[in-house]
Amino acid sequence: MFDWLIVGAGFAGSVLAERLATVRGEKVLVIDRRPHIAGNAYDHLDEAGVLMHRYGPHIFHTNSQQVFDYLSRFTSWRPYEHRVLAEVKQPGTGNTMRVPIPINLDTINSLYGLSLTESEVEQWMAERAETVDAIRTSEDVVVSKVGRELYELFFRGYTRKQWALDPSELDKSVTARVPTRTNTDDRYFTDTFQAMPAEGYTKMFERMLAHPNITVRTGVDYAEIRDQVPHRRVIWSGPVDEYFGFRYGKLPYRSLRFEHKTLDQAEYQPVGTVNYPAEEVPYTRISEYKHLTGQQHPKTTITLEYPSGEGDPYYPIPRPENQALYKRYEALADAQTDVWFVGRLATYRYYNMDQIVGQALATFNRIDASLPPEAANDD
Ligand code: FAD
Ligand code: UDP
Repeated sequence: MFDWLIVGAGFAGSVLAERLATVRGEKVLVIDRRPHIAGNAYDHLDEAGVLMHRYGPHIFHTNSQQVFDYLSRFTSWRPYEHRVLAEVKQPGTGNTMRVPIPINLDTINSLYGLSLTESEVEQWMAERAETVDAIRTSEDVVVSKVGRELYELFFRGYTRKQWALDPSELDKSVTARVPTRTNTDDRYFTDTFQAMPAEGYTKMFERMLAHPNITVRTGVDYAEIRDQVPHRRVIWSGPVDEYFGFRYGKLPYRSLRFEHKTLDQAEYQPVGTVNYPAEEVPYTRISEYKHLTGQQHPKTTITLEYPSGEGDPYYPIPRPENQALYKRYEALADAQTDVWFVGRLATYRYYNMDQIVGQALATFNRIDASLPPEAANDD
């Protein structure tokens, strides 16, 4: 008899497994229908021996000391600040250029052949920014800061490809993930902690799950096992609509097709990721893992991301009607007494890894406060 059946061995499921086993001494079975642990953060050595991420580039960044300290129990870190270039057509000449994204002072100066200072570029942007009464959509966020030309160049095509929606149909929170800067800071993230697990994510997950109270079974779907293995309670980190048999209809998710390539050259591009915002290019970005991992290798592995409506659910789509449908599922979830819903798909939130770890730790605290432990505390 397991105290917990945890569905999904990604961040949500693995953090909860570790906490329940370590702090409460409970017996946990973690399952995943994929043939591996670590969820979307899964990394491994490919055939050439290059450490790569099967589900696209995962860069760890957080402002939470608590989340960073927690994960630091299971890994050491390699400091890494992600830098991204966008390949765009220069206004006026139509020449292809690679410039930093998030848009910053250097982006504007190189794109327009200017040499503006920080305060001058503020003025430059203000002259182009459009007045928007209430910022609601992903279009509003950008045009209200940098105007229509840069919006069309960097955001409109990328967003239409990624989401199959115009930015005007998408909640502001999506493009608001990418800020606009008037200084020359070209880092993609500005969080206090930015680092990669020194030996990769999968190794970190292995340590998290290496507890005598935890059993891990991969390649197993919940539907196959739910009636076979006795358990008292469930943590669900799969899609919330799937748990309820799609009772109210399917929640929309966006997917990606990944094209992985190993090249017989040491380096492919100068930075971890190059974005391709132009609508006519079928992929959104190309990432090269060696920049992230610091691995030295005569070959290199890259991944192209092709957005898709079909395939594994990766991105909840932030739109009011989807949120309304999610709320109906959330009400069902709240009414369950022995099932907890945690993670990006189970709570239908466009969350980064650190936010999922924070959510899982908070869920653990709620469980710990509300349930008597099944076994003596042995931490
Ligand atoms: P998941 O990792 O999706 O884990 C859920 C697991 O549940 C899956 O492995 C699935 O197989 C399993 N499962 C589902 N249903 C069942 C079932 N019925 N039976 C058995 N198993 C089941 N975040 C960052 O912080 N930085 C980044 O750079 C970053 N890059 C990203 C790039 C891409 C392309 C994507 C898609 C996401 C990225 N993220 C990034 C977000 C990050 O992947 C998530 O925040 C995190 O992995 C979510 O963890 P989770 O445990 O909620 O879900
Ligand atoms: N985005 C864009 N152009 C870019 C980068 C991002 O239009 O060059 C928009 C796009 O809608 C994307 C969103 O901003 O989905 C969030 O970007 P982020 O890089 O955070 O996406 P993720 O890494 O989560 O896929």
